[in-house]
Amino acid sequence: MSDTDNSIGRLTDEFLRTVVEPLPVVDVHTHINGQDPAAHDIGEIIFYHYIVSELEASGVSHATIEGAKSVEEKVDLFLESYKRLSNTITYWCLRRVLELHGITADAELTREALLEANEKVQATHVDPTWPARALGERNHVRHTALTLNVTEEIPEFDTKIFFGTLRLDDLIGNVTAGTLGQFSALTGKAIDSLASFEGVARDRVASFAKGGGRALSLGLPPEEDFVSTHRDDAAKLFDRVLKERTLGLLERETLHSYLLEFFAGLGSEAQIPMQLLLGVRRPLPGNAAVVAVAPGLVSRYAALFHKFRELDFDIFLASAAHSQEAIATAKNYPNLSLTGFWWYAFSPPYIRTMLTERLMALPAVKLHAFFSDAYNVEWSAGKLALLRRELARVLAELMVSRYLSESQASDLARALLLENATRLYKL
Ligand SMILES: [Zn+2]
Repeated sequence: MSDTDNSIGRLTDEFLRTVVEPLPVVDVHTHINGQDPAAHDIGEIIFYHYIVSELEASGVSHATIEGAKSVEEKVDLFLESYKRLSNTITYWCLRRVLELHGITADAELTREALLEANEKVQATHVDPTWPARALGERNHVRHTALTLNVTEEIPEFDTKIFFGTLRLDDLIGNVTAGTLGQFSALTGKAIDSLASFEGVARDRVASFAKGGGRALSLGLPPEEDFVSTHRDDAAKLFDRVLKERTLGLLERETLHSYLLEFFAGLGSEAQIPMQLLLGVRRPLPGNAAVVAVAPGLVSRYAALFHKFRELDFDIFLASAAHSQEAIATAKNYPNLSLTGFWWYAFSPPYIRTMLTERLMALPAVKLHAFFSDAYNVEWSAGKLALLRRELARVLAELMVSRYLSESQASDLARALLLENATRLYKL
């Protein structure tokens, strides 16, 4: 190793320990259940869905994983198979999660250790103080976003630690007669035309924002372009969806573009930002989802960004291949910010590249470092450990290269982990 590599390594460790780890953090996107935020047992930790997908990719069958029902069976299956994936970054995160329950990162994984940890997980699951302790006290997470589906009842949750984002996919890219039926049943209002739908959706978004909701959120399919759409055309296509007719790709693009623009208008009226999750193609055969490199993935929405200049868009990217385009687009539109590293991009080589590019090209007020995408509070902590290490690493590299002073790096860490998201999401 060269002296430079050594000094980056040393500085990363020191900067992580003294600056980055103690900083409070905002997590702007998770799938945590606000009413039941903690893992029920060790099975939900060691068979977290990222781990399951890596086991299946390595040849452990879905039926085998589904067949392990009891905690003991799950622990045994895990111990038989985890070495297949112990090189991956998901496994590294898992070891950070297990640390929460007393298994140190270098300890050997044994049946006894995992079953002992299971008792702790089962105890913390029923301890109402655990979510705040796991997130706040132990990991300094100040606020955590919940994803609330627009077609479902909004559950009660602890607003001291959580805030709501309203997921719109079921009424935009995934809209069907079925999802419209659910939305109608939820709101108790008839939806028999685009006009009646617009009225119901307007009320729903307004009451969500009035009740403390902080953002709209949606994934957009990379295969669909964003096209300028006349309302009369959208109304005809909407009627066909209500009648359960299938739409062709161009027709879907037309309707979805109209609905996206409509909801952007509602976000603008309600003065809450809109999260756009870009770059994953799904479902593929076998219910798969992969990153898709698509031309103009971000810049295709330029007309939307320009039309709704007063609406803030927070962009999530699943592929580093779109990073430069996203940065250039954000440089042109003041209402665009870039957030975190989504799904397949949540790994050191991509985080380092994307974060370095962003820090060298964009004013820091437009950047947010972290969202966990976690399904329980334990995995939120595991993913945060990785992000903190990579943030410290990138800032250390920039300090060693003399592009940043230490005080600049400290200020940036605080802005990216806490201040910018606090301001954007009005927390
Ligand atoms: Zn997600």
